[in-house]
Amino acid sequence: MQIEFRWCAACASEQLFEQPPCDDGHGEDCLDLSCVECGSAVVLGHAQVDEPVLPAVRAA
Ligand SMILES: [Zn+2]
Ligand SMILES: [Zn+2]
Repeated sequence: MQIEFRWCAACASEQLFEQPPCDDGHGEDCLDLSCVECGSAVVLGHAQVDEPVLPAVRAA
C-alpha cells in the first residue's frame, strides 16, 4: 500500500494520498493514488509505455 503526501489541486493543499482499490489488476503495483480528503485521483504513470531506450554506446 502506497501512501504519501502530495499536492491536491482539488483541496488546494497537501493531502495524504493512498492507493484506491484497483480494478485493472495492477494490485500493489498500481500507480493510482486518490486524495483521502476529497477522493480526487491522480495517476502516476499507469501505462508501462516503452521507456526511452538510449542508443547503446559502442566501444570502439
Ligand atoms: Zn491500477
Ligand atoms: Zn483532495
